[in-house]
Amino acid sequence: MLLPEIELSDTLYQVISEMDVKSKFQRSENMSRIHGKDTKPEMIVRSFLHRHGFRFRLHSKVLPGHPDIVLPKYRTIIEVRGCFWHRHPGCKFTTTPASNLEFWQKKFHENVRRDEAQSVELRKLGWDLLVIWGCETSRKSFPPPSLLDFVRKAKEITQ
Ligand SMILES: [Zn+2]
Repeated sequence: MLLPEIELSDTLYQVISEMDVKSKFQRSENMSRIHGKDTKPEMIVRSFLHRHGFRFRLHSKVLPGHPDIVLPKYRTIIEVRGCFWHRHPGCKFTTTPASNLEFWQKKFHENVRRDEAQSVELRKLGWDLLVIWGCETSRKSFPPPSLLDFVRKAKEITQ
Protein backbone atom coordinates (compact mmCIF):
# COMPACT_ATOMS: atom_id res chain seq x y z
CA MET A 1 0.00 0.00 0.00
CA LEU A 2 2.95 2.28 -0.57
CA LEU A 3 1.75 3.83 -3.79
CA PRO A 4 -1.51 5.38 -2.53
CA GLU A 5 0.42 6.97 0.31
CA ILE A 6 2.87 8.53 -2.07
CA GLU A 7 0.04 9.78 -4.24
CA LEU A 8 -1.78 11.21 -1.27
CA SER A 9 1.20 13.04 0.08
CA ASP A 10 1.90 14.47 -3.34
CA THR A 11 -1.67 15.67 -3.53
CA LEU A 12 -1.48 17.17 -0.08
CA TYR A 13 1.77 18.84 -0.89
CA GLN A 14 0.17 20.34 -3.96
CA VAL A 15 -2.86 21.50 -1.98
CA ILE A 16 -0.72 23.12 0.68
CA SER A 17 1.52 24.81 -1.87
CA GLU A 18 -1.48 26.08 -3.77
CA MET A 19 -2.98 27.57 -0.62
CA ASP A 20 0.29 29.15 0.29
CA VAL A 21 0.63 30.54 -3.19
CA LYS A 22 -2.96 31.74 -3.14
CA SER A 23 -2.60 33.74 0.05
CA LYS A 24 0.75 35.17 -0.97
CA PHE A 25 -0.37 36.31 -4.36
CA GLN A 26 -3.76 37.66 -3.45
CA ARG A 27 -1.95 41.00 -3.33
CA SER A 28 -0.88 40.73 -6.92
CA GLU A 29 -3.70 40.61 -9.39
CA ASN A 30 -1.42 39.57 -12.18
CA MET A 31 0.07 36.66 -10.29
CA SER A 32 -3.34 35.73 -8.91
CA ARG A 33 -4.59 35.30 -12.42
CA ILE A 34 -1.87 32.77 -13.11
CA HIS A 35 -2.69 30.92 -9.93
CA GLY A 36 -6.37 30.57 -10.62
CA LYS A 37 -7.86 33.57 -8.89
CA ASP A 38 -9.86 34.40 -11.98
CA THR A 39 -11.65 31.10 -11.93
CA LYS A 40 -14.34 30.22 -14.41
CA PRO A 41 -17.23 30.68 -11.95
CA GLU A 42 -15.94 34.15 -11.15
CA MET A 43 -15.69 34.98 -14.85
CA ILE A 44 -19.27 33.83 -15.39
CA VAL A 45 -20.50 36.18 -12.66
CA ARG A 46 -18.34 39.01 -13.97
CA SER A 47 -19.61 38.73 -17.53
CA PHE A 48 -23.18 38.55 -16.26
CA LEU A 49 -22.69 41.79 -14.30
CA HIS A 50 -20.97 43.38 -17.25
CA ARG A 51 -23.83 42.46 -19.59
CA HIS A 52 -26.21 44.10 -17.14
CA GLY A 53 -24.22 47.30 -17.21
CA PHE A 54 -22.63 47.06 -13.78
CA ARG A 55 -19.29 48.62 -13.07
CA PHE A 56 -17.07 46.90 -10.60
CA ARG A 57 -13.57 46.72 -9.25
CA LEU A 58 -11.66 43.49 -8.95
CA HIS A 59 -9.73 41.92 -6.11
CA SER A 60 -9.75 44.93 -3.84
CA LYS A 61 -6.56 45.11 -1.86
CA VAL A 62 -7.91 47.45 0.79
CA LEU A 63 -11.08 45.63 1.82
CA PRO A 64 -11.14 42.72 4.28
CA GLY A 65 -10.43 39.42 2.59
CA HIS A 66 -9.54 41.11 -0.71
CA PRO A 67 -12.98 40.50 -2.18
CA ASP A 68 -13.35 39.33 -5.79
CA ILE A 69 -15.92 41.78 -7.09
CA VAL A 70 -16.59 45.20 -5.60
CA LEU A 71 -19.54 47.34 -6.68
CA PRO A 72 -18.90 50.68 -4.99
CA LYS A 73 -22.09 52.29 -6.28
CA TYR A 74 -24.22 49.71 -4.49
CA ARG A 75 -21.89 49.24 -1.56
CA THR A 76 -21.95 45.57 -2.42
CA ILE A 77 -19.29 42.90 -2.54
CA ILE A 78 -19.78 39.74 -4.54
CA GLU A 79 -17.71 36.75 -3.55
CA VAL A 80 -17.64 33.69 -5.75
CA ARG A 81 -16.81 30.76 -3.53
CA GLY A 82 -15.84 27.24 -4.40
CA CYS A 83 -18.25 24.79 -2.77
CA PHE A 84 -15.58 22.31 -1.70
CA TRP A 85 -13.10 24.73 -0.14
CA HIS A 86 -15.63 27.07 1.39
CA ARG A 87 -18.10 24.34 2.46
CA HIS A 88 -21.31 25.28 0.72
CA PRO A 89 -23.92 23.93 3.18
CA GLY A 90 -25.90 20.98 1.85
CA CYS A 91 -24.11 21.00 -1.50
CA LYS A 92 -23.14 17.78 -3.28
CA PHE A 93 -19.66 19.20 -3.88
CA THR A 94 -19.07 19.73 -0.17
CA THR A 95 -17.38 16.39 0.24
CA THR A 96 -14.71 15.45 2.75
CA PRO A 97 -11.82 13.24 1.67
CA ALA A 98 -11.71 10.03 3.70
CA SER A 99 -7.96 10.09 4.25
CA ASN A 100 -6.20 12.62 6.46
CA LEU A 101 -9.52 13.61 7.93
CA GLU A 102 -7.96 15.81 10.60
CA PHE A 103 -6.00 17.79 8.06
CA TRP A 104 -9.06 18.43 5.95
CA GLN A 105 -11.34 19.26 8.85
CA LYS A 106 -8.85 21.76 10.19
CA LYS A 107 -8.41 23.30 6.76
CA PHE A 108 -12.13 23.55 6.12
CA HIS A 109 -12.75 24.96 9.57
CA GLU A 110 -10.14 27.66 8.94
CA ASN A 111 -11.66 28.55 5.59
CA VAL A 112 -15.17 28.85 6.97
CA ARG A 113 -13.95 30.87 9.93
CA ARG A 114 -12.05 33.22 7.64
CA ASP A 115 -15.12 33.65 5.43
CA GLU A 116 -17.29 34.44 8.45
CA ALA A 117 -14.77 36.92 9.78
CA GLN A 118 -14.58 38.60 6.38
CA SER A 119 -18.35 38.84 6.24
CA VAL A 120 -18.50 40.44 9.70
CA GLU A 121 -15.74 42.92 8.83
CA LEU A 122 -17.36 43.94 5.57
CA ARG A 123 -20.73 44.47 7.21
CA LYS A 124 -19.08 46.55 9.91
CA LEU A 125 -17.72 48.78 7.16
CA GLY A 126 -21.19 49.09 5.70
CA TRP A 127 -20.83 46.70 2.78
CA ASP A 128 -23.40 44.13 1.72
CA LEU A 129 -21.92 40.76 0.94
CA LEU A 130 -23.44 38.56 -1.69
CA VAL A 131 -21.98 35.06 -1.89
CA ILE A 132 -22.33 33.14 -5.13
CA TRP A 133 -21.42 29.47 -4.83
CA GLY A 134 -19.49 27.68 -7.54
CA CYS A 135 -22.36 25.26 -8.20
CA GLU A 136 -24.68 28.21 -8.81
CA THR A 137 -22.61 29.18 -11.83
CA SER A 138 -23.30 25.95 -13.71
CA ARG A 139 -25.32 26.28 -16.87
CA LYS A 140 -28.38 24.83 -15.15
CA SER A 141 -28.42 27.08 -12.08
CA PHE A 142 -27.12 30.37 -13.44
CA PRO A 143 -28.07 33.04 -12.64
CA PRO A 144 -29.05 32.12 -9.06
CA PRO A 145 -32.03 33.90 -7.44
CA SER A 146 -29.68 35.82 -5.12
CA LEU A 147 -27.93 37.43 -8.08
CA LEU A 148 -31.17 38.20 -9.91
CA ASP A 149 -32.48 39.73 -6.71
CA PHE A 150 -29.42 41.93 -6.46
CA VAL A 151 -29.81 43.09 -10.07
CA ARG A 152 -33.50 43.84 -9.55
CA LYS A 153 -32.86 45.88 -6.39
CA ALA A 154 -29.91 47.69 -7.94
CA LYS A 155 -32.02 48.75 -10.90
CA GLU A 156 -34.72 49.99 -8.52
CA ILE A 157 -32.14 52.14 -6.75
CA THR A 158 -30.84 53.70 -9.95
CA GLN A 159 -34.26 54.41 -11.43
ZN1 LIG B 1 -22.44 24.28 -4.01
